[in-house]
Amino acid sequence: MKTLVIFAISIVMLSGQAIAQQITVRDSVIEKAVLQISASNIKTTVNELVALHTRHNLSTKNDPARGIGAAAQYLSNKLNGYIKNSAGRAIVEKVEYRAGGKDTRLSREITLTNVVATFKGSNKDDNRIIVLLAHYDSRADNNSDSTAFAPGANDNGSGVAALLEIARILSGMDIPVTIKLMFLSGEEHGLLGAAYMASVAKKENWNIIGVLNNDMIGNSRTSSTDVSNNTKVRVFSENIPYVESDEMKKSRVFNSSENDSKSRQLARYIKETGERYIDNMEVKLVYRNDRFGRGGDHTPFCKEGFTAVRICEYHENYDRTHQPVTVKNGIELGDMPNGVDFEYVRKNCGVNLSSLLNLSFAPSLPQNVKIDISDLSNNTKISWESPKEGKKPSAYYILIRETDKSNWERKVRINGNNIELHLSKDNYLFAVQSVDNEGHESLAVFATGGSSK
Ligand SMILES: [Zn+2]
Repeated sequence: MKTLVIFAISIVMLSGQAIAQQITVRDSVIEKAVLQISASNIKTTVNELVALHTRHNLSTKNDPARGIGAAAQYLSNKLNGYIKNSAGRAIVEKVEYRAGGKDTRLSREITLTNVVATFKGSNKDDNRIIVLLAHYDSRADNNSDSTAFAPGANDNGSGVAALLEIARILSGMDIPVTIKLMFLSGEEHGLLGAAYMASVAKKENWNIIGVLNNDMIGNSRTSSTDVSNNTKVRVFSENIPYVESDEMKKSRVFNSSENDSKSRQLARYIKETGERYIDNMEVKLVYRNDRFGRGGDHTPFCKEGFTAVRICEYHENYDRTHQPVTVKNGIELGDMPNGVDFEYVRKNCGVNLSSLLNLSFAPSLPQNVKIDISDLSNNTKISWESPKEGKKPSAYYILIRETDKSNWERKVRINGNNIELHLSKDNYLFAVQSVDNEGHESLAVFATGGSSK
């Protein structure tokens, strides 16, 4: 007995550090919603999309059983079926736009269709909108070939299937803010459908607080290195925003906020919330807008000044993406359903849904979040104003990290609209979130000390 005790103590001492416990509070409404996500439904959707043979942007629009027209109709039918449960809160639209022709990646000018499901927020005083994207077009290895088999099971049947599950679940829920699920065409020929929707959003001044683009969220096995892992997903976010005024640039340089764009705060939010609700899942923040030389539908939204990120599998399989369906040297090529890990898609769908719901239940952002830099002090005074619209916060969270850390390290709950911390403003970065009684927090607002003259 004595020996055992000594052994146990030495293990603790050898480990050299205390084991910190973390308090995790899950909202039962969000938890129940996430539990409704079905890997089997996701599998059915992916198989039904693949059965349409191709969803190439120039493929037929007149055949009810194949081509991009059939795909748009399939999505519209599914969504219209789900929203029957929404008591009139949701609508489904086919949004048409012109694309292609001379000097574009599409050989002729055509009309393409985005399918958009809008779940109207129940709080009339709150005009916030959260947007989820998934492109539904597909391509073969030759991107000009509009008739070849282009299954697109993972790229991007996986993202589409996840958004359809979210539509099904949202149809039975009452959400205070408006949610738009956009099923986009034109991605494989230059992000055309996303560019069109982003331009409409900008022109009509939509109050979008976050855009989550899901593109390829189902592959969990690498090509060539044969790594298999379905417990990690990437969230890509821009560093310095695409749209940055001179004023914003001055503030960034003065405040050292180059790692704190709004899109980066959204990415960190998805990590915190996704990991709060989804077991066996680590959300990896990738501090670049997208992969080398490759793009996604979040980018046109970033370019219009919106806060937008891309959610994407951690491991890619280049034998499957944009490849002909065949077997070469014993290796299966092509983007077929047997390359999709449906349990992995279910978890990634849960990362989306939990982030989306937590954000939509949260109060709006604190305003005018400022660090007092008027004197030399080893204390830091931070102040902010309550949001003007939406639900009133019951408290605020102060987020704290050292300047060389990539993610927030501490989170302190504060009543009132200011705080003095016994930490030097020169050694830490700070942000503030609004939070309600149930623990739904807003996105973080980075605290600034003004800008240089
Ligand atoms: Zn894609």
